[in-house]
Amino acid sequence: MTVVDDAALRPTALSEYVGQRALKDKLAVYLEAAKGRREALDHVLLYGPPGLGKTTLAHIIAAELGVAIRITSGPAIEKPGDLAAILTNALEDGDVLFIDEIHRLGRVAEEHLYPAMEDYKIDIVLGQGPAARTIRLDLPRFTLVGATTRPGLITGPLRSRFGIIEHLEYYRDEELAEGVARDARLLGVPLEAAAALEIGRRARGTMRIAKRLLRRVRDFAAVAGEGHIDLQRARSALDELGIDPGGLERRDRVILRTLVETFAGGPVGLDTLATALGEDRATLEEVHEPFLIQRGLLQRTARGRVATDRAYAHLGLRAPSDAGLFESGG
Ligand code: ADP
Repeated sequence: MTVVDDAALRPTALSEYVGQRALKDKLAVYLEAAKGRREALDHVLLYGPPGLGKTTLAHIIAAELGVAIRITSGPAIEKPGDLAAILTNALEDGDVLFIDEIHRLGRVAEEHLYPAMEDYKIDIVLGQGPAARTIRLDLPRFTLVGATTRPGLITGPLRSRFGIIEHLEYYRDEELAEGVARDARLLGVPLEAAAALEIGRRARGTMRIAKRLLRRVRDFAAVAGEGHIDLQRARSALDELGIDPGGLERRDRVILRTLVETFAGGPVGLDTLATALGEDRATLEEVHEPFLIQRGLLQRTARGRVATDRAYAHLGLRAPSDAGLFESGG
């Protein structure tokens, strides 16, 4: 049996990359222009929530340019020496250097990155104490692709050194279904179109989640002795996984319920809410909140987080604004 792993399913050409139409159109132009000039592509900053395809796009950029890609991450580059090692050893002209979570680069390393990005040069310090001296090394003309879920944490000087800054959008249900159908084909799983769409609907706009749900639904079907996945089977598997028709997971419902029941619907500060949930603040802010906000279930206000009327409705409760009654719910 052939094992089809995640990397094998990852699209390798822009034409296989589902959705993100506006971004793909622009990128196709930039790639063609860079290839035509036989120059390295300008540095690219990709931002957006996790699982929307930033890493995949970095791989595609390298593949479309016909160059190698080196992968690292902000937290892995603590010291300027870490950066120098990557830039001087691993790269050739035109190559792509992908730095994931680039907002977490160390401050000093970041400053060393500026001349590398701008002039393809890096300063390294040799020796220590009074005998120390700095030498400037030439680097290959590389393309930096940076990815971040937190564009607000990118410093001005770093941001200004990217020629291309692009945002990834949440996917529409049909686009998620397309991505799911593609993986199902590659995995050899018979999946009806309606089932793919149902998975897409419950995947909270996120390709990674859609693809993960496909695998779990496939497991349920296999255990039930069914290879074929129709709408009914997809629905029951998703229900069993605790994912409701709105795409909320148990954890999302717990967040809304805590907001409504413990904090009377808010406003409550993020830290307080995170503590009450025993959740890490960053996970709450970066993973759950954007989705709940996008679905109109939660609002971020100056005074804190607030549950919307729709959140009450989702939990089967009556909103306090509704007839002035507050139903505490069970
Ligand atoms: P990010 O880096 O933004 O967190 P990834 O690039 O790791 O996201 O993508 C998560 C998963 O979703 C991967 O398995 C990837 O292959 C798949 N994926 C993401 N975007 C797309 C897309 N537009 N078309 C097809 N598959 C995608």
